[in-house]
Amino acid sequence: MSLTIHGIPVSGGVAIGRAHLVSHATLEVAHYLVPRDELADELARFDTAFSSVRSELEELRAQFPTTAPQELKAFLDLQLMILHDATLSQTPRSLIESEQCNAEWALKVQMDALLAQFNQIEDSYLRERKTDVVQIVERLLKALLGQPGYTPPPEQANEQGVVLVAHDLSPADVIQFKQHQFASFITDLGGTTSHTAIVARSLNIPSIVALHSARQLIRENELVIVDGTIGTVVIDPDPQTLAEYRLRQRAWEIERRKLRRLRDTRALTLDQVEIELHANIELPGDVAPVKENGAAGVGLFRTEFLFLNRDRLPDEDEQFEAYRDVVTDMGGLPVTIRTYDLGADKALNGVDYSMTNPALGLRAIRLSLTEPQMFLVQLRAILRASHYGKVKILLPMVMSVSEIDQTLYYLAQARRELDDRHIPYAAGIEVGGMIEIPAAALALNTFIKKLDFLSIGTNDLIQYTLAIDRSDDKISHLYDPLHPAVLHLIAHVIRVANKAGKPVALCGEMAGDVELTRLLLGLGLRRFSMHHASLLSIKQRVLQSNLGQLAPKAQRMLRAHEPGKLRALLATLNS
Ligand code: PEP
Ligand code: MG
Repeated sequence: MSLTIHGIPVSGGVAIGRAHLVSHATLEVAHYLVPRDELADELARFDTAFSSVRSELEELRAQFPTTAPQELKAFLDLQLMILHDATLSQTPRSLIESEQCNAEWALKVQMDALLAQFNQIEDSYLRERKTDVVQIVERLLKALLGQPGYTPPPEQANEQGVVLVAHDLSPADVIQFKQHQFASFITDLGGTTSHTAIVARSLNIPSIVALHSARQLIRENELVIVDGTIGTVVIDPDPQTLAEYRLRQRAWEIERRKLRRLRDTRALTLDQVEIELHANIELPGDVAPVKENGAAGVGLFRTEFLFLNRDRLPDEDEQFEAYRDVVTDMGGLPVTIRTYDLGADKALNGVDYSMTNPALGLRAIRLSLTEPQMFLVQLRAILRASHYGKVKILLPMVMSVSEIDQTLYYLAQARRELDDRHIPYAAGIEVGGMIEIPAAALALNTFIKKLDFLSIGTNDLIQYTLAIDRSDDKISHLYDPLHPAVLHLIAHVIRVANKAGKPVALCGEMAGDVELTRLLLGLGLRRFSMHHASLLSIKQRVLQSNLGQLAPKAQRMLRAHEPGKLRALLATLNS
């Protein structure tokens, strides 16, 4: 029977396809049926992975330096013991046979069962041992992923028309899906501006977060319709609903095709003011759609994504090559490289960022300044890439003079180190700051002169101003870009920047929301950076806007306090 569930729309359009359930632990694991005559091979895969992890751990134990702390040795012993326990060495094998499932899935199911048991344990020491179970399972999964397995038949392997259904995914998980072609992406958790949603949006496929029970209600391979514009999922639709959504899907595609004609049109307002529309990217591979959508440059390169899903940090050469590729592919257009914004929900493999409050903790520029060697590697790599085009450096989450001074000190050191190696870089590279902490917005006058440009990160600015965790779906209804405090902070930053003669952009998700374009133009914003999928609809709105008329209306919005009044004023601005 058909059923409709509702969530938060993340990326527009209609997708109709078969559900593929992915589960979340620390790793995402695919689930597929293994034919009976392939089960022996699947069991052999499991056994090979098991032996390789056992050898790995035994080797580590054998080579243990005598000077190393004994607790570490005990820790390895414990992990070996967990590995050999029948709950991990035998039960997954039985599951493979009884459920006819792939080895990765069997391991994941067994791990979830074990973790549930651990959660019941009263003794806190024993309860914490679940981390060891997770680590062992991760090792086994990695070993399995390195081995070729059974290839699912075409209807399972063909990713076209597949709707990915997950309970929750980290940004690192989602970035992996960039390599695949899914029709849609839906999750139970997540907020509008969570990094998971942002990456999902950049996949440019209909997606929805915060559905709460999708993972429970939808079965593998079930037909579903995803309406990413309004945020609904229809499970097992009847023929009439299906036909209606097919029409909507076609209408959406026609609309997208029409927009594509604007690709090479200059973003000029009706009163002939040029607006710069840049794109946000996560990985070098994102440049192709950025160019297809006619961006004026890359306004935000979230470089931390180069650091995720791996055990070894990218070294200077690897980073340099990634930055240089983006810079050369952009063919002379500016590329704003943000230094890594790691921490909080974007954690390095194996690094424990579990602090009392990660979003208020050691992340972004704070982390960089506590890890100067790692920071210097990135600064040298960016400087080297600057030789190949127009590069700017953007610092995430700055809020004080001292952070900028320290960064400039390290930048000077990076330059000296390159000079010593006779490696060229561009002179006078511009350094900008992201304004995403309310304190930074309010105290902008105290450090603006140290920066060459600004970029307003409204995702975090709203998170910190309204005290709402951007990745928590339970309070995502409180996310409100029109909250008077948010509007005043944005207006203040634009005003101070314009007065100081410093270019200011806005690169949070607000920049890609066509309903807010005229308001931001009215507040004086002339530079936007957004996910590429929004570029053309924002350009269309710019082409239909008259700045002379917008400014007074935007000022009226700043004076309004009542939510209903604000929405009414926004509606007139957009009419
Ligand atoms: C922001 O905070 O608005 C922003 C653009 O940075 P990120 O979303 O990567 O935190
Ligand atoms: Mg941010």
